[in-house]
Amino acid sequence: MTDLMTIEGLRSDGRTPGDLRNMTIKTNVIPSADGSVYMEWGNNKLYVTVNGPFEAQPRHLQDPHRATIQVNYSMSPFSCPDRKRPGPDRRAVEISKLLAESLSKVVIRERFPKTLIDVHIDIIEADAGTRCAGLTAASVAMAHAGIPMYDLVGAVSVGKVENIIILDPGKEEDSKGQADMPVGIIPSTGEVVLLQMDGQMNADEFNDALKMAREAISNQINKKQLDALKDSVRVVPFEEEDLPDEGGIY
Ligand code: ADP
Repeated sequence: MTDLMTIEGLRSDGRTPGDLRNMTIKTNVIPSADGSVYMEWGNNKLYVTVNGPFEAQPRHLQDPHRATIQVNYSMSPFSCPDRKRPGPDRRAVEISKLLAESLSKVVIRERFPKTLIDVHIDIIEADAGTRCAGLTAASVAMAHAGIPMYDLVGAVSVGKVENIIILDPGKEEDSKGQADMPVGIIPSTGEVVLLQMDGQMNADEFNDALKMAREAISNQINKKQLDALKDSVRVVPFEEEDLPDEGGIY
């Protein structure tokens, strides 16, 4: 037995390698925002708010053909045991940019030229996987705000500990493990919209990890997202040959 995996193949919190941490998603938690979500995923706790689309100001921010998505990801100083220095840092700027690009792949931005959609992801407790939690919750908050989308994007991290591929690493697995790979996928098309990797995996391990993430997003995470939206949003199956206004999530 080691710290991270027992000889029976269980992880330090009792999960099997393919188990997700528990996830709850609630919408409409901040009525003053156009769309809002509170998410708990394992020990991660976060709020996401969406405002817009509204006219982008100053005008140099305007894209004449589509909406611009602006994401602000931030971890509170009290979100982790070693108090985090307040304010933006390089990591937050990088994550914000990556998540804006991922969301841009699912929002039907051409409907709202010259506008801005403003997304705030506030991490109040962080326990690894916060960028995936942020992206998964932001996608739900976008739909809750009534912003038309081709599909919801879901995300989860996959890791490697003791040479075993694991789903959704917790903090200890993330920091002591051999690899950590956050993945974001659009379930209906299979398109990968977020992929990063810390550490090392060989080609077989990478393929197994990507498959594990893909299955978890399509079979579990997407269902949680849709469940959270079922009372507030109309979901219309989207066919690839459809024009944007004939399918999607409204
Ligand atoms: P993610 O949260 O997406 O997995 P990282 O891999 O960068 O992102 O971080 C893993 C975990 O490390 C975070 O969820 C958080 O618990 C912790 N962490 C990240 N940045 C800091 C920081 N500046 N100070 C303290 N802990 C941090």
